[in-house]
Amino acid sequence: MNTTNTKCLIIGSGPAGYTAALYTSRANLSPLLYEGHQPGGQLTITTEVENFPGYPEGTTGTQLMEDIRRQAIKFGADVRPGIVTEVDFSQRPFKVKVDDGTQILAETVIISTGATAKFLGLPDEQRYMGLGVSACATCDGFFYRKKRVAVVGGGDTACEEALYLSNIAADVFLIVRKDHLRASKVMQRRVLEKPNIKVLFNTNTAGLYGEEFLEGAHLVENKGTDNEQHYDLAIDGFFLAIGHKPNTDVFAKYIELDETGYIKTNGHSTATNVEGVFAAGDVADPHYRQAITAAGSGCRAALDAERFLAEQE
Ligand code: NDP
Repeated sequence: MNTTNTKCLIIGSGPAGYTAALYTSRANLSPLLYEGHQPGGQLTITTEVENFPGYPEGTTGTQLMEDIRRQAIKFGADVRPGIVTEVDFSQRPFKVKVDDGTQILAETVIISTGATAKFLGLPDEQRYMGLGVSACATCDGFFYRKKRVAVVGGGDTACEEALYLSNIAADVFLIVRKDHLRASKVMQRRVLEKPNIKVLFNTNTAGLYGEEFLEGAHLVENKGTDNEQHYDLAIDGFFLAIGHKPNTDVFAKYIELDETGYIKTNGHSTATNVEGVFAAGDVADPHYRQAITAAGSGCRAALDAERFLAEQE
């Protein structure tokens, strides 16, 4: 087995991982980063990014990730393709196995594996991805100015996305499968009071339609009852907000997670329950989920890892 030693192993790319690599390489820690299933992370499936500071003309998610990646490599980060399949955090150095057969022995680990938006599982969702289907209103909402959009879900995220879109789009439909919202009372009130948001309770999405771009959704009301009704809703945008799944399965044996699977960090730091293991980005953040907040936490994790190593010496 090929074994590599490193002072700092970063698992996962995206803004958190690449920023952690940039900071740790500038601190002479010679970090090793494995990029995981989706090099560059969730941003690579969005289109334009107009809210990352420093890009007044906007950029694409893929370009932004490539820029931070190049910046990290320039200072010596060793960025490799590969997926971590197994970890042993029971003692230091931590043992980590990669799918190419490499074993890593790491003094510190920064977990930045992100989260994956949940989809309904309709084949049409992939067909219209980027052509009307999105899982991020803050990323893509701007393109639906004065248009008609729908948001699926009844939790806080769905309400937040619907409210955000209601300030941009002409009409927002919130598609909720139950007869009530799961979101906090305050969010429910805001949604119900907003004149251009219409909540469609007891409604499921059966499919999407459109020539090249999305043109509408096939909906089913009161599914499975005597009162079941099928109809089409003309919309330009379809936003999924049925939750995210943090990519933490491989760490669950050692790392403390909250009830929805996000990594718990210690107060203001990025420290996990295992000394020397830090978490950054969406994998530890169910709330903000922005490229800039992920990049910020990647920087914090790098500084935490650097200080931890200095204390060990
Ligand atoms: P939640 O799990 O709270 O809600 C998911 C919603 O999606 C539910 O309404 C659920 O319906 C619906 N849903 C799930 N699967 C399907 C499906 N297959 N078809 C149709 N609908 C579906 O996820 P959120 O992302 O909203 O929130 C995650 C956590 O983050 C929560 O604890 C939330 O409070 C928190 N959060 C807090 C915010 C804030 O405080 N500002 C902002 C955003 C999130 P059902 O109810 O029927 O199960």
